[in-house]
Amino acid sequence: MTQKLYNYSRLCLHTMTTKPWSLEEAIDGYTKAGIPGITVWRNHLEPYGAKEAGKRLRESGLHVVSLCRGGFFPAAGAQARQDARDENKRIIDEAAEIGAPLVVLVCGAVPGIPLPDARQHITDGIAAVLPHAESAGVRLAIEALHPMYADDRSAVNTLEQANNMVTILASPWLGVCVDVYHVWWDPMLKSEISRAGQKIFAFHVSDWRTPTRHLLNDRGMMGEGCINIPLIRGWVEDAGFQGFIEVELFSDQFWAWDQSALVERIQQSYLTAV
Ligand code: ZN
Repeated sequence: MTQKLYNYSRLCLHTMTTKPWSLEEAIDGYTKAGIPGITVWRNHLEPYGAKEAGKRLRESGLHVVSLCRGGFFPAAGAQARQDARDENKRIIDEAAEIGAPLVVLVCGAVPGIPLPDARQHITDGIAAVLPHAESAGVRLAIEALHPMYADDRSAVNTLEQANNMVTILASPWLGVCVDVYHVWWDPMLKSEISRAGQKIFAFHVSDWRTPTRHLLNDRGMMGEGCINIPLIRGWVEDAGFQGFIEVELFSDQFWAWDQSALVERIQQSYLTAV
């Protein structure tokens, strides 16, 4: 193998990928493995609080890539929508506190709220929190979710819809997150990645298992599924993206492993299948 194949300089793990590990264990495990990037999930942050977590992250020398996740803007009633916006402002503050330059948005959906209405709630909600993001120096990325989550997780299901919102809101603080698990099937993917261009703020990888045994917690290891990750990575990089490649694996199967062995397996797959 060439030197290049051992280059992990753009590799980032989500703390949810190693869900059984506490934030402290994740910091330790990633550091020992030579993985430079970490994306922190709020549930891993909460036991420490943002201030303490930020201190530990800064001491570790790891590069904090993003905080996951904000969003969930749609709600029935103006007060509930305001509550969602207030919660997103708190998340933005937490991101600033831990040194995360980006909050990824899982935009939300509510059964019974028509999808076009939900998308309006999302657009209005993001517009309402963007000034707060700007003052905190934290960018926001809209992540399109696979349509199987259109009932209760996100009314934004294609990169085209995410790009449209970014176009409408026209802020340097707003872009998109391309997660191959959610968008690999989309016939418009290549052109929408090209359209997003410099608005691609994050790139998430995992694979699609056949059959998928659970809608949330059965993502595959890169190379074990049907997603052509190197192809999509090529499109994203052709569009100008040179940021971290974030491994986001929700998997009951892998969470049952020894997590150090899982990290090692991810590193192997990163070299061969990403
Ligand atoms: Zn993702």
